Amino acid sequence: MNQQLVAELNQELEKLKDQNLLWNPKTLNSPSCAKPVIEGKKMVMLCSNNYLGLANHPALKEAAIKAVEEYGAGSGSVRPIAGTMDLHVKLEETIARFKDAEASLYYNTGFTANSGAIPALLRPGDAVISDELNHGSIIDGVRLTKADRYIYRHKNMEELEARLKEAKEKNPGRILIITDGVFSMDGDIAPLDRIVELAEQHGAVTYVDDAHGDGVLGEHGKGIVNHFKLEGRVDFDMGTFSKAFGTMGGHISSSRTAIDYLLNKSRTWLLTGSHGPATVAASTAALELLIKGDELVKRLWENTDYYKRRLRELGFDTGESETPITPVMTYDSGKARSMSQMLFEEGVYALPIVYPMVAKDRARIRTMITAEHSPEELDFAIEKIGSVGRKLELIS
Ligand SMILES: *Cc1c(COP(=O)(O)O)cnc(C)c1O
Repeated sequence: MNQQLVAELNQELEKLKDQNLLWNPKTLNSPSCAKPVIEGKKMVMLCSNNYLGLANHPALKEAAIKAVEEYGAGSGSVRPIAGTMDLHVKLEETIARFKDAEASLYYNTGFTANSGAIPALLRPGDAVISDELNHGSIIDGVRLTKADRYIYRHKNMEELEARLKEAKEKNPGRILIITDGVFSMDGDIAPLDRIVELAEQHGAVTYVDDAHGDGVLGEHGKGIVNHFKLEGRVDFDMGTFSKAFGTMGGHISSSRTAIDYLLNKSRTWLLTGSHGPATVAASTAALELLIKGDELVKRLWENTDYYKRRLRELGFDTGESETPITPVMTYDSGKARSMSQMLFEEGVYALPIVYPMVAKDRARIRTMITAEHSPEELDFAIEKIGSVGRKLELIS
């Protein structure tokens, strides 16, 4: 190993350590669920994206096992050559049905959906207009284009309109507006209805990343497009299976033509091995569950509403949240770290979110509620957050 490189990398790691930004992931010794075993200890989970508890759901496990028995462990190829099984085709048909769309495409992850589709859609000289708080996978996707970039302040529609006018003057080609549906740090929802109106007025194309809205927003968890009743008016409806749907994979729904185009032009779809049978079949099973019934989505919202109400009654500030993503504001980053640490000792797992992920005085612990949490688990977590919050003088 090159010693100069090792020395330089060590220096970078030391810098991260000094800034308290070094990751040291904790290990689960159990399925991901509301009460997993983490580092050998039973915990109440408050920081997974497993919103509907599907990651360990019997229907998904059964579908995965059956698929492995019938189709094996791997797919053997990239999608365009020999890695498209009827399982993949069925999944894409099911996504389209669930999303009320003409056609859908399944990518390996949400990250590769964004980093593949965005550069495929934008030519040199086109314009992309992006909310300042969009996810890193959108930012990386945009970096791979030669389009001109415009940023608007978070959810600021006056600025979006100003950027649209600017882009129309400077960029004779395509204008793509791109936004997260639900923003992952605060749990607030993009004003997609107003974004679509502005896009229609100015002839722009719309692309929403609904990673945290899939399975959460809209009837049966169909997502943000259904939530705002915008069916047929959002050009690209993108999301992921790695959160509420409990498995893995990105997806994009659009017109048949747009999907045929993306399939031919997304390097992250063409040049990577496809998911194996277990993941694909379990993903279809997740959507079939949601098409059939909305009990899990209803329970998710009941749990969320109860949890947030109780935290507010205790005196906590839960920020701008409109979804199960619930920040517990500590403002101070030292307090956010202490709070997470103290909660872990008490059997509650929630991570601190501090600068540079959020502004310096907007530190928090970020908690996420799922349909799977029992009333006892919620009460346990609320009690511990309360007692730790009192010790840290966040509440009286
Ligand atoms: C999690 C997330 C992604 C990435 O999805 P993966 O399938 O986990 O790669 C993309 N966009 C947003 C907004 C996300 O929250």
